[in-house]
Amino acid sequence: MSYLYDLWDDVISLLFPRLCYACGNHLLRNEKLICTECYILIPRANYHNESNNLVEQLFWGRCRIEKAAAFSYYNRSSRIRNLIHNLKYKGIREIGYELGKIYGSSLKNSDFTSDIDVIIPVPLHSSKQRIRGFNQSEIISQGISEATGIPVDSISLSRKNISATQTKKSRYERWTNVEGIFSVTDATGIRDKHILLIDDVITTGSTIESCVTELLKTEGVRVSVAALAVAII
Ligand SMILES: [Zn+2]
Repeated sequence: MSYLYDLWDDVISLLFPRLCYACGNHLLRNEKLICTECYILIPRANYHNESNNLVEQLFWGRCRIEKAAAFSYYNRSSRIRNLIHNLKYKGIREIGYELGKIYGSSLKNSDFTSDIDVIIPVPLHSSKQRIRGFNQSEIISQGISEATGIPVDSISLSRKNISATQTKKSRYERWTNVEGIFSVTDATGIRDKHILLIDDVITTGSTIESCVTELLKTEGVRVSVAALAVAII
């Protein structure tokens, strides 16, 4: 029977091949979403084991961050870029959850998350979330939560709707002007907590900076940051 089952499995995979979301190669029967080669070859930044690392340096003189880290590096040809693209634009949520779980176990094995009370994903524009159907940072957060046991709070920090004056600005102006676009909706929920803020990719760091500035207005809050990738420019 198992021979017949395997044969049927092979026929199905011939008709509907399962491909690696990072490199496009065929997946073997025991592989899920990412092939073994990509799993091994995706570079790990290991910043969670290194204080004063490149991600932390990005925020020096801009906002007070306890610790910062990224799972991998992001550039035009990186495999992690393909994964994040498939997550955000093709709607393959499982990628965010799986990568979150993988990164979460690494973080748990170091002391990076030992004093974290709550995970907060960077909020998406409500209009963007409506179109996409989900917030990728929230999915990644759920994977990290599964691995670390730290709860996710997707309510206390929210993104304000774009005002009429902001929509008139050019795309570049809006990109550089992220100050004041987030707000804390429930200060009592985050008071005296050490928050781990999660984003998919850190590029200029201005979105994170804006979130952190807003979160630090609440008494006793400390913020650390983690992302799936940091852009190497
Ligand atoms: Zn692959």
